[in-house]
Amino acid sequence: MTIRSLPDRKPFLTAAFALVTLAALAAAAISAEPRAKDLFGARKLPAVAPAQSFGFYSKGCFTGGVALPMDGPNWEVMRPSRNRRWGHPAMIALIEKLARDARADGWPGLLIGDVSQPRGGPMMTGHASHQIGLDADIWLTPMPRRPLTFAERETMSATLMVDEKTHLVKEALWTPAHTRLLKRAASYAEVERILVNPGIKKKLCDTVTGDRSWLRKIRPFWGHDYHFHMRIGCQPGSPDCKAQEATPDDDGCGKPLAWWFTEEPWRPNKNPDAPKARDLMTMATLPRECQAVLAAPDAPSLEAVTYQSGGAAAVAAAKQEPTEPAETISSGNAVLPAAASAFAPTPKIGIPLPRPRPGN
Ligand SMILES: [Zn+2]
Repeated sequence: MTIRSLPDRKPFLTAAFALVTLAALAAAAISAEPRAKDLFGARKLPAVAPAQSFGFYSKGCFTGGVALPMDGPNWEVMRPSRNRRWGHPAMIALIEKLARDARADGWPGLLIGDVSQPRGGPMMTGHASHQIGLDADIWLTPMPRRPLTFAERETMSATLMVDEKTHLVKEALWTPAHTRLLKRAASYAEVERILVNPGIKKKLCDTVTGDRSWLRKIRPFWGHDYHFHMRIGCQPGSPDCKAQEATPDDDGCGKPLAWWFTEEPWRPNKNPDAPKARDLMTMATLPRECQAVLAAPDAPSLEAVTYQSGGAAAVAAAKQEPTEPAETISSGNAVLPAAASAFAPTPKIGIPLPRPRPGN
């Protein structure tokens, strides 16, 4: 029905105007509440406190973050301007360990994508998760022989490993070294999941012989065709960290994988312009402790919180810890030295949580 067909337009217009006004008021009320991604995205340094994750991978924050150094013997940080090379000390230690082990396996070195923001929380762009310092993206492109300049790290493209039409791995690009890298990452006790494109999962299902137990941790997901996503479990000292449900015990190569090669998962998003969760989250959405995490004082300097193997930075940061914010934030758990928490086995806790499909 159009306005013109109405016998009397006035009541309709008045009602329409009232509706518009109401909508505007509601929008103003929402926008008056600062968005968590703006607040967390603005923090340049971590909160000085023992390392602790609050909430869930896609709804939370963390304290005691340390930075992965921009360069190591076996890795380089990509997209440095994003300032997302922060993580729980256990995560940063594990990235360094993977870089070392992968080198020994024949992978030239790791190109590191996003880990977390200094205090975690939702991000301005990309990623629903990566909010509690326990997720890291690692490129499927090996580190080049010569060091990358800052500009190259900002602009160099990763290699698309999967054909976008067939969702199968590009045979010319996949190598046994890629398989070894994923196997090595999955071998660590603290790694609970590795997210890869379904085509990559299928490639592994079709080709891995001998020990296939590690395939359990390799989980198919949208995207993840330039990089893989390594997720570790909640670490000791984080009682308010919500664990993800355990992966099923089988290799995941059967029915659930077959679903990815049907039409259903690839149907166009019916509502592509709908705001994403990270665009709507306010501080009220996040765990209560994240307010204190956001308000806690900055680490004294970038150097003090840049990870050095063995956890020196984390220890230095913990020593500087002012008592008051730590009391507000922590739940009475002692600081664990990074080295101790980095490789401790994580318990399997099965808490079912919704896993929404990402918008892109
Ligand atoms: Zn990721």
